[in-house]
Amino acid sequence: MTFHAKFSGYADPALHSAGLYIGGKWQSGRGITVLDPSTGNLLAEVADASIEDAQRAVDAAHAAAAGWRATPARQRSEILRRWYQLMTQHAEELATLIALENGKALVDARGEVAYAAEFFRWYAEEATRIPGEFRRTPSGSHNILVDHEPIGIAVLITPWNFPAAMATRKIGPALAAGCTVILKPASETPLTAYAMARLGEEAGVPPGVVNVLTTSNPGGIANAMLADSRVRKLSFTGSTGVGRVLLAEAAKSVVSCSMELGGNAPFIVFDDADLEAALDGAMIAKMRNAGEACTAANRFYVQAGIHDAFVAGLTARMMSLKIGPGYDPETQCGPMITQNAVRKIDRLVSEALAAGARATTGGKPLTENGYFYPPTVLENVPVNASIAREEIFGPVAPVYKFESDDEAIRLANNTEYGLAAYIYSRDLKRAMTVGKHIETGMLGINRGLMSDPAAPFGGVKQSGLGREGGVTGILEFMEPKYYAVDY
Ligand code: NAP
Repeated sequence: MTFHAKFSGYADPALHSAGLYIGGKWQSGRGITVLDPSTGNLLAEVADASIEDAQRAVDAAHAAAAGWRATPARQRSEILRRWYQLMTQHAEELATLIALENGKALVDARGEVAYAAEFFRWYAEEATRIPGEFRRTPSGSHNILVDHEPIGIAVLITPWNFPAAMATRKIGPALAAGCTVILKPASETPLTAYAMARLGEEAGVPPGVVNVLTTSNPGGIANAMLADSRVRKLSFTGSTGVGRVLLAEAAKSVVSCSMELGGNAPFIVFDDADLEAALDGAMIAKMRNAGEACTAANRFYVQAGIHDAFVAGLTARMMSLKIGPGYDPETQCGPMITQNAVRKIDRLVSEALAAGARATTGGKPLTENGYFYPPTVLENVPVNASIAREEIFGPVAPVYKFESDDEAIRLANNTEYGLAAYIYSRDLKRAMTVGKHIETGMLGINRGLMSDPAAPFGGVKQSGLGREGGVTGILEFMEPKYYAVDY
């Protein structure tokens, strides 16, 4: 890996890695450039794995598999716990790396590191509590004994928007379950993944248990690994489009898939909501990571009686945010990940404006260096605009007015996605009743933030398959084995 001079000043050089991490060895290389989204300048260059490198990674994961599977749960747990402690000790360097390569504000990056590390602590605890079952059959003919075994080698593919947390949310349960893994982080944000692998080494993760590859050929590499019969699990977080492609590829060798895909979260505010609480929640649900989150509120449905006050309050809060590079401690809204991301947001906003929406703040990209889009609030947005159907993935809050509870439910469910949703109301009975009808994997009631390593994270409809985190997350990396027993 080579580094731009500016970069070296920010993070602990001990965390800098040389490139691909396979079988406990670092392999230097070049070919993938990492840009600073705040300036567009080169930050670093990392190795570009070939298909042969990916095959070597599967070999390494296979060579380590039997030993790791046989390692007592308590020992696996202690390694994860040490990894958690090292991430916590190095939290500031990791947060700086994330702010540099992803662009998110330091305050968000620090939050991400704490959240990411917590997956190692949670799964250090869960590693020692893998469930089993013992029952008599209903007919009384024999006993049913169910054990859970590690599923086998897991390929983990992660996006750029949470470079640390999306990796630990998969590595934690996989290692706790007894699986060995190959992580392919996003090309835009590989530095955090490599830095975490360094810490994993220090924590005592044996060679080959965790392998990390960056590549400019994600489709080719993924297909090659999925075609290898030793790979039994694919855990993917990313867009629904890529998820569909990978599901089709995994079907060829019937590989078990966990899919954390896109979202289009509705944020419903009823007339009886506490306005200030709803605005606080709206800012968290919309502006964490400058809107680049799968759980980000994408559609604000606000009841007629509170609509104008909500729009005014949200506009004032959005206008007050300080825009700047993520690594500037004053920044509250960093840049988008790429120029393409800015173009997509611009297209969605321009189409909405042309269809009759009005921007109460923001509404067009900023012209300075870097990939900046300003915090934007839109009102009068037609409910069928593209911005209501597509993930915005940026700091834009489109607000739609509604009248009745039934209308809110119908509008909220009018999407192929079903990852997250939010409801604000002082009437808990109403919120729970409406919530029952919302097609979603996760629902925040009077809360703008729901992610928690101890809770099951995931979506319904085209937002995904399976759940990460919580007590069931470990089972995504295990196969139940049924023993029919008589004695
Ligand atoms: P993406 O384009 O789908 O990429 C995700 C990962 O897949 C990256 O590592 C990417 O590699 C890789 N990839 C791309 N094409 C591939 C292919 N043909 N085969 C195998 N891998 C391939 O998504 P993104 O833009 O990074 O992330 C944003 C999306 O992730 C949004 O839709 C967001 O909602 C979703 N997301 C979901 C969750 C969740 O938990 N549900 C969490 C976070 C994000 P390269 O970087 O090399 O292209």
